[in-house]
Amino acid sequence: MKIAIYNARRYDKQYFDSFNRQFDHELHYIDTHLDSDTLILSDGAEAICVFVNDPVQRPLLEKMRNQGVKMLALRSAGFNHVDIRAANELGIVVANVPGYSPYAVAEHAVAMILCLVRRLLRAHARVHEGNFSLEGLMGFDLHDKTVGIVGTGKIGTVFAHIMHGFGCRLLGVDPVESRTCRDLGMHYVSMETLCRQSDIISLHCPLVPSTKHLINDDTIAEMRDGVCLINTSRGAIIDTAAIIRALKRGKIGYLGLDVYEEEEDLFFEDHSNSVLNDDVFARLLTFNNVLITGHQAYFTREAVTNIARTTLANVTEFEQTGSCANQLVAPK
Ligand code: NAD
Repeated sequence: MKIAIYNARRYDKQYFDSFNRQFDHELHYIDTHLDSDTLILSDGAEAICVFVNDPVQRPLLEKMRNQGVKMLALRSAGFNHVDIRAANELGIVVANVPGYSPYAVAEHAVAMILCLVRRLLRAHARVHEGNFSLEGLMGFDLHDKTVGIVGTGKIGTVFAHIMHGFGCRLLGVDPVESRTCRDLGMHYVSMETLCRQSDIISLHCPLVPSTKHLINDDTIAEMRDGVCLINTSRGAIIDTAAIIRALKRGKIGYLGLDVYEEEEDLFFEDHSNSVLNDDVFARLLTFNNVLITGHQAYFTREAVTNIARTTLANVTEFEQTGSCANQLVAPK
């Protein structure tokens, strides 16, 4: 099948080309974002492949259908950037890559915690300047601390395992409880209790209407003073304006973000030669207890391997059977 791969980076080409030897699809790489102006670049392709920073809403899906596109292959697990209902109605099959490496994201969340609570970036910069003072570098032990995990699916469960290894007490919020997490000693509680009792809170739920701005002025008010908050899930789960207010008054002690509400126009590109126009993001960068990475939690060799292989396998399955096990269907 001819597949148009939008927003293709050097590493995408490398991994997709390597695995395509098994699948033998016709891959057509396109450097730009997918939108109604660039759709024409994929003329003749029956499948279009996009990443998380390409929003695909109904008007674009209608144009895709009119151009003969039959499948939208997401090279991501998250699918909040696609109107699944519209795609279903228009007969375009959408498939994702679930659980390509929960370890990649969970380990990144842990890396952020250690980097923040042991103040590693500050320490590193100091040592390079010949400053070996320990003033301001005091950390805390993870052992015996309470970790609240919002969303105990694939990533949240791996994260729970790792934090259990540090000797942490585990609290969870999830409408679907994980037996594995329970076996680790996790207590499922309300969001309010999780906020009140956790020293560290890590977000691993999807972005859906009910989780948009789940972290807001009210939930922050319930949290412990100096809490460590980590978001490797989706930016809009946090109300960024509220988090900045909380950072200014010291309520949030440490903040690790791999995702950001307005990341679409910012992340995955080199903006180092232009002026940063996002004042909210600029304010976040001024806090020395905030660590930001540009949606790289998933970015390990193992995860990128699984993404390329499963995306191509999804297209093959659709080509051969007309459907796909990883097909996404909007809830009724
Ligand atoms: P998953 O589907 O296995 O787990 C999500 C869990 O969240 C489920 O158990 C679900 O019941 C729970 N959940 C749903 N609504 C909830 C709510 N209101 N409150 C609490 N829990 C709720 O998904 P996963 O593979 O663990 O991925 C989780 C999220 O991580 C994805 O949705 C995606 O947004 C994000 N992600 C980020 C990256 C990255 O690079 N930063 C990479 C992959 C995934």
